[in-house]
Formats: sequence, C-alpha cells, structure tokens
Amino acid sequence: MQLKTILNRVQKHPLFVYGAIELVELDDQLTLEVQVRPRANGQPTCSRCGFRRPGYDTLSPPRRFQFVPLWGILVFFVYSMRRVDCPGCGVVVEAVPWATGKQQLTSTYAWFLAGWAKKLSWTEVATSFHTSWDTVYRAVRTAVDWGSEHRDLSAVCAIGIDEVLWKRGYGFLTVVYQIDKGTRRLLWVGENRRVKTLLKFFRNFGDERSAQLRFICSDMWKPYLVVIARKAPGATHVLDRFHIASTMNKAINDVRVQEVNSLKMDGYEPILKGMRYCLLKRADNLSEGQEIKLAELLRYNLKSVRAYLLKEDFDAFWNYVSPAWAGKFLDRWCTRAMRSRLDPMKKVARMLRRHRELLLNWFAARDAISAGATEGNNNKLKVITRRAYGFKAFKVLETALFHTMGDLPRPKATHRFCR
Ligand SMILES: [Zn+2]
Repeated sequence: MQLKTILNRVQKHPLFVYGAIELVELDDQLTLEVQVRPRANGQPTCSRCGFRRPGYDTLSPPRRFQFVPLWGILVFFVYSMRRVDCPGCGVVVEAVPWATGKQQLTSTYAWFLAGWAKKLSWTEVATSFHTSWDTVYRAVRTAVDWGSEHRDLSAVCAIGIDEVLWKRGYGFLTVVYQIDKGTRRLLWVGENRRVKTLLKFFRNFGDERSAQLRFICSDMWKPYLVVIARKAPGATHVLDRFHIASTMNKAINDVRVQEVNSLKMDGYEPILKGMRYCLLKRADNLSEGQEIKLAELLRYNLKSVRAYLLKEDFDAFWNYVSPAWAGKFLDRWCTRAMRSRLDPMKKVARMLRRHRELLLNWFAARDAISAGATEGNNNKLKVITRRAYGFKAFKVLETALFHTMGDLPRPKATHRFCR
C-alpha cells in the first residue's frame, strides 16, 4: 500500500492531487514531504470572494503546510500557491481547502494538536509532537475561534456570574457560566470586576438572549447586583449556597484570627493554631485526625467554636422545601448571630437580612439550575490559571479557559486523527 492511498482515504481534496512523497532528513529530524498539485484544468478559488476564477500565475517558492505526523516523522504538504484573476477582487492569492489564511498548519493538524491540548499541558503537547508552544497556542486558538463562532447560545436560561483572582492574586476576572440543569459551560470571561466589565458581557450576549434568562446566580458584589438588575430585569436573581458558604468561611476565619491574637496576648497556649481547616471544612469531610482535634476544640467555649457552630446550623437552611419556613429559619438564625457578640458573624447576619429576598429565590431556582455548578467550575478554572505559567496575557488565558471549559463544538470530519 502506498502512502498516497492512505492520504486519499483520510484527507481527500477533490480539486487537488497528491504527487511524489519524499523522505528527507532536516536537522536530525525525519520529514515526509508530500507534493500537492492542482487537478488538471481545475480553476483556483479566490480567497476573498470564494468563487472559482481563472488562474493568473503561480507563486514560488512553494509553501509548506504541516500535517499530522506519522510514526514520529514530521509531515509537510508542499504546494505552489496560484493567484487568481478575479473580476471582483483583482489579482488575489487562491484559497486552499487544507488551511486557512496565512496558517502554516493544516487545519487537520491544528485540530489534532488542539485535541491533545485538552488532555495535556501545551508545553507537553509541544514536546510530544516536536513543535513549539506557539504552534500549539495557534492551534488551540483556531479551534476556539471556530467553536465560538459555531456554538449555540439559544437555550441559555440560567447563568452564574463569578469573580476569580488571577495574576497571582493581583487582578480579577469576571466569569459567566451557563448553569442550566445538566449543562455546564463557560460562556464569557472578562478582565476586572467592575460595572463596565459585566456590561460588556450583556452587550456581547445580546438583548434578546438576556430577556430570556430566568435565573442568575451571583455573589453580593455590588457592581454585579447593579448590572443584573438593569440588564436582566426579568430574571430571578439568586444567591447560591456556594457564595453564602464562602462568606461564612471568611467570617469564621476572621473570628479565629482575632481570637488567636487575643489568646496570645493573654499568654495562653495557641490552641487555635493550625485549626483553620478543621473549622472551614464541612464536618463530613474531616479526616480522623482532624475530627479528634475538632472534638478537643469543641470542649472550650471559644469564640471560634461558637462561630463554627453557627455556620453548621445554617446548613439546615438549604434543606427546607417551603421558602416560607426557610424564611422563618433565616430570621431566627440572624437573631442568634446578632446576639453572638461575634462581630464578623453579625456582619454576615446583617448581609443576609439585607439580601433576604435573593436568598429565598434559591428555592424557586434549585430545580432549574445544576447545584454546585459554580463551585465546580471555579475549582477547574483555578487549576487552569495556576497550571499556566505562560498565561500572563489575558487573551492566552481566555483561549485556554474556553478550550477546556467552553464545551465548544468542532467541525464534522470524515476521519478523526485524535479522539
Ligand atoms: Zn474574488
């Protein structure tokens, strides 16, 4: 069997034929050079208007387009580009079906690399296939651009909006996910967390789609609240469990830090040192050692312990079926927290009271949205931002995030080079 036969099977272009295939050694690297030429009498396609036009001339030297490697051997298509004489566009270089624009990668190879870049880091992909990080980035960009253009946003009813730290904690990203039951994907990401940032999302998303939104989950960050009320007045705004839990954890930690300091000043053993994770973790997630530590800790009537117990009690809120009863529970809990003489917890209680309505909205939304979606997404997002040393530029980070979390479509191909 000839290589040409295989090529015609996996990658056939009706207007072009494969010619001689030569094995050459370049810089210690075996390379297959596949000559490509136009079919006899085949007219070239104008790259500007897409119509078949008479040929004008042929450019030299030939261009090389990298294709999927075979047995560790690099593969290149070698083709002399023609120019067309187009009545509408003038003398223009032709379009070829295996690559777009000025790309040196064939589209097939770009999708191949992009596929691996979902499983491995970009550096690992580059090393594995004897190519550069830049090439892998360009391949992923191609995939993301195509996917973003072809994705279907018509059925988005629930979104989650979140802020995430990046640049080693010096900057913020605003991220928007679709969180309809059974669907989780990244819809948008923007730099900063200002009013302007979120407005950009809604402009991008469009008025018609915004009007069809039923639920929006977010935290209590003021700029978000303002924009959501203005741009999606028809949607029910929900404060979800994940955001309440992180607010509570912050409060508990404040109590603990204050208490550690005052115990130290009074000359007591630093009993609270190293207890941070026991207090912040959910009870059923504790290790055995942590459980014992927590049991010891609970013997003291410490402020941290009282804050911890308040948080644990609040969990019952999410188990209510009726929003009316949940509301009563919430009011009772806030009264207790206000009497706790723990300032950070009082602050939480005041905030919950202020947003009572949005909290109770959760009971209307919980059957329509996938629970824990935002939390899961944020964890994944943090892994990607942390893993990515090369992601100092926002555009690169955005590309990486959409590639892994955007659930983007890909073109239908007759042959899959990578699953
Ligand atoms: Zn044209």
